[in-house]
Amino acid sequence: MPSEGRPRDRILIVEDDRDIAELVATYLAREGLGAAIAGSAEEAILDCAELLPELLILDLGLPGADGLELLRYFRGRSTAPVIIVSARESDEDKVAGLGLGADDFVSKPFSPKVLSARVKAQLRRSGYARETLPRESDGGGNRLAFGHYVLDFDGRLLEREGERVPLSRREFELLAYLALNEGKTYAPVELYREVWGLEHGDLSTVAVHVQRVRRKIEDPGSPPRWLVTVPGAGYRFLRGGSP
Ligand code: CA
Repeated sequence: MPSEGRPRDRILIVEDDRDIAELVATYLAREGLGAAIAGSAEEAILDCAELLPELLILDLGLPGADGLELLRYFRGRSTAPVIIVSARESDEDKVAGLGLGADDFVSKPFSPKVLSARVKAQLRRSGYARETLPRESDGGGNRLAFGHYVLDFDGRLLEREGERVPLSRREFELLAYLALNEGKTYAPVELYREVWGLEHGDLSTVAVHVQRVRRKIEDPGSPPRWLVTVPGAGYRFLRGGSP
């Protein structure tokens, strides 16, 4: 059920332990983040349809449908970040959760302060547009136009002349991050940290995703115009296109 008396509920806490849920909601409220609470996966599905949450905090052990089932359902409909909070220690759950598209995993018992920091980190990565993007004159909202394209940060989608360009969540986030910081060059390691949220790992993932985004926005017959390689340095986005 949506909570009352707070700013718009951007976050949905799915947790059957009401005390824990309310503690988390209280901490988030201190950060100016409104959160609704659902006590079961079934309730969460109704709340998701109504609230379109920007982030899900998900307990795996729920009465009725399992948290992982809810995650699968949610991922089929939303790219918003999901943080799993679980008392289950098994690696299988963690792997299953991350495999189903969860973004972070916090073990119970946890510090509400730590969880709230993780929430903010995820919101920064996924919703940085809200805070940092200058308002556009083309109809307002969090949108950025380049060439025939419009990046819609609120809808988290890319359109070309009104048609949606299919981007995976990570492809969108990579493009959005570079577009929001247009003109600035980022090394793969920086993009890996900012977009993937990871300090270590296979950096070639970044190049692979750059190629995938390019396939969707660049003219295959010409050098990249928007998402440009800066030799020896990294990648940058040029809104006006490369000269
Ligand atoms: Ca539980």
